[in-house]
Amino acid sequence: MQLQLGGACNALHPVEARMARWLLSFRDRIDTDVLPLTQEALSEILGVRRTTVTLLMRNLRASGAIRSDRRGHIEIDPIRLAAAACECHGKIRLEVEKIFSTVTAPSGNPGLVRSRTLDQR
Ligand SMILES: [Zn+2]
Repeated sequence: MQLQLGGACNALHPVEARMARWLLSFRDRIDTDVLPLTQEALSEILGVRRTTVTLLMRNLRASGAIRSDRRGHIEIDPIRLAAAACECHGKIRLEVEKIFSTVTAPSGNPGLVRSRTLDQR
């Protein structure tokens, strides 16, 4: 699902929005605003030239979405970055949450409580 959406995203959305989306997804995984990333890695991930990444970073920094970009660490402002990202980030996150809530739903234990009540009778 993530790959499918990712493919549509690559075809439909501008690279700046995709870069913002990718940085947000990465942040979701490592749970910190300082991402251990170089511009070189970003250019490989997004399949664009390094000079394009530099330009995009400059734009995002001007809008406050990127706080700093130094020595292989990119510090982001997740709220501002979300404003710059395409809607795919929210979609993918929603789907992932749906999958996890389905997986964890049985441990909500309504069944267990009921069978315990039955045992007492
Ligand atoms: Zn997208």
